[in-house]
Amino acid sequence: MLIDLIKIGFPKNCLSCSNALVQNENYLCSSCYFYLPKGELAIHNETDSGKLFEPLDSFVGAGHLFNFDKNGKTQQVLHELKYNSNQDFGEYLGKLLGNEFFNILTHIDLIVPVPLHPKKQHQRGFNQSELLARGISDVTNINISTNNLIRNRFTETQTKKNKSERKKNIAMAFEIINKLEFENKRIVILDDVITTGSTLSECIKVLSQVQGIEISGLLLAKANF
Ligand SMILES: [Zn+2]
Repeated sequence: MLIDLIKIGFPKNCLSCSNALVQNENYLCSSCYFYLPKGELAIHNETDSGKLFEPLDSFVGAGHLFNFDKNGKTQQVLHELKYNSNQDFGEYLGKLLGNEFFNILTHIDLIVPVPLHPKKQHQRGFNQSELLARGISDVTNINISTNNLIRNRFTETQTKKNKSERKKNIAMAFEIINKLEFENKRIVILDDVITTGSTLSECIKVLSQVQGIEISGLLLAKANF
């Protein structure tokens, strides 16, 4: 039990392959990180994640770091982030995102993590997208906005729903408290996993009503099933 606790606090083995980590490696060994399937490391309308969204004048496009294959290595990584309450690992993944997308993010004014409903955040204890945002901000110095785009409706989990059910379930779930805060800003909306894109689409729809806003989407992973 104590050994387990120590392992969680100070992981010395790769979370993916369990091999011992060497100096300068954190959470994932270099080999696992190298072989994790990656996205295009670009943000535009034609990336695999960008193509999921309807074109809007205010929407630049989207990009993602990992391709999430069922039962593949990426799944272990995401499970660790979402369910094992490993918050430091969340920030570490954010730093990876920040480093890989560093040049693309240089013009961004604000990071906006997709909000959870307060009830859900309370249950989980943290918002995994916010952890990623903190890591990105650490690397890029871009400010984070966590209380202006809010989730005003508690929605059922999207996991077992198809595309149209997801769209219906998430409709009207978000609102902006103070539109002025986002006016004429270049923002990146951030989420952990994209499947059909319905949650992010709904956020983009709400954000696009803000004057002069420019919206990019950034995801840790895209699920390919
Ligand atoms: Zn490994």
